[in-house]
Amino acid sequence: MRLWPIFLAAAPIAFGQYPGATKPTAAWQTGFDSITVKDAKPFLETLAGPMFRGREPLRGDYGLAAGWLAARLQQAGLEPAADDGTFFHRFAIQSSSVDLSKSSLLGPDSQVVVPCGWRFSVSTVVDGTQELPGIVFVRIPSGGSLKPDQLKRLAGKIVLLRASPQDTGNLSQALRAASLVPYAVCTPNGRNPDSVVQSRKSTSIQGHPDPRRPVMTSLSFSDDAMSSVAKVAGAGLFESGSLSEPAVEPSNVTFKLSAKLDVTLYPSVNVVAKVSGTDPILSKEAVVVGSHLDHLGAQSNGTYFGADDNASGCTANFFIARAVVLNKIRPKRSVYFAFWSSEELGLLGSYAFVQRPTVNLSDIIAYINMDMVGRDENDPRFKSVAAENGKMVYPSGVAFNSPDFLKVLFDANKQVGLTLKADVEDRIMRSDSGSFAWKQIPTVKVFTGDHEDYHKTTDTPDKVNFEKMVNIAKWLYLTVQDLASGRARPRWQPSPFKPNPW
Ligand SMILES: [Zn+2]
Repeated sequence: MRLWPIFLAAAPIAFGQYPGATKPTAAWQTGFDSITVKDAKPFLETLAGPMFRGREPLRGDYGLAAGWLAARLQQAGLEPAADDGTFFHRFAIQSSSVDLSKSSLLGPDSQVVVPCGWRFSVSTVVDGTQELPGIVFVRIPSGGSLKPDQLKRLAGKIVLLRASPQDTGNLSQALRAASLVPYAVCTPNGRNPDSVVQSRKSTSIQGHPDPRRPVMTSLSFSDDAMSSVAKVAGAGLFESGSLSEPAVEPSNVTFKLSAKLDVTLYPSVNVVAKVSGTDPILSKEAVVVGSHLDHLGAQSNGTYFGADDNASGCTANFFIARAVVLNKIRPKRSVYFAFWSSEELGLLGSYAFVQRPTVNLSDIIAYINMDMVGRDENDPRFKSVAAENGKMVYPSGVAFNSPDFLKVLFDANKQVGLTLKADVEDRIMRSDSGSFAWKQIPTVKVFTGDHEDYHKTTDTPDKVNFEKMVNIAKWLYLTVQDLASGRARPRWQPSPFKPNPW
């Protein structure tokens, strides 16, 4: 079929604001206009292309992307804002696994109750001997249920449970309803003596076990190993014949876990740049914009390019940074632009930053997180289809931690015209936004919704809605300018999550 050249020439290719939007504030216009699809598209295509093979932190491809990005930031006129006058904020990822041949469960007087192997295995990041929380033995005859005072005895404990799957499910429900959280509930893992057990790898940050993930040790028992532990603890009912009533037997015996870790350290960096504020007093305060740069890398089934997750957020972040530099009028407060490592391994980079920040946390007035800002939502849970989501974005979480900040986002959007959609689930802890909200900093997680290519090798640049991504960058650029001006700091005012707050 032939093309109609006249149509091509006449079609307006305007990737500006959406219909109904007002003109951007004159003082911020130059920066606003500098954010274009023409520049953003090749930038994203490089980040999510074959050069960086999916930006995996443990295999080195992430480091190449970080170096490339730092050079681009320097070229764009950003100041370094990390360690020793560089763009690199260093930390070490600790990848560890338990050497099962040198680890075991210990009873009183440190005698070995069960060695690690097919009968009992663990995953932990604690090297050496640790005292375990108390063990409670629970046996539920078919159809039985625990009384409220029996349930209470399980809070904070390791529960070794013999019950049918149905009764196990009922017990979990009863615990949730009573807001009681055991340390762990273990049912027999079904392993046979010929099982080969391999230790799972855990990742954390060297020197900083993460307190947001309280259960750092998980345990797995075979039925036979449970019997060995019950014998040492003297839990008679757990081991006796038939029962007519549920039995709950707390143990007075202290059990310990002795684990030998095999540890590998991987040096990594977050990339952090800034534009210094112009006001002698306000410049010590900062707005922080962040996006994770890492993704899942090259694996046996192909390369996970992560165009949406999260080359989109990093591209938007870079062009917001460049726009602030290019705008003639500079902000009063400082603005930091951070590109996080190892989000996919458990928010490690942003967590390392809030542990050892290069700007006082108490001076951060707001944090904007972008994670997946390049697609049209196509979430099978919702009736809405992709075509209707062409200009939709979630300003996630902020309604429940800082209504002041939400208002700034709404006001800035009048000049862009995106559809700001309220979340149906609490998503703020599911990205680096979690590290900042945890530190009680007003935080928004900007996100364009789930889609069929999430964490697949098919998350590629050709599927990105560049017009929308660029308009999100323009919207957040205006938000940054407003926050970094002389306005009052948004307040931290947390409230419980509820769906559809506006
Ligand atoms: Zn992501």
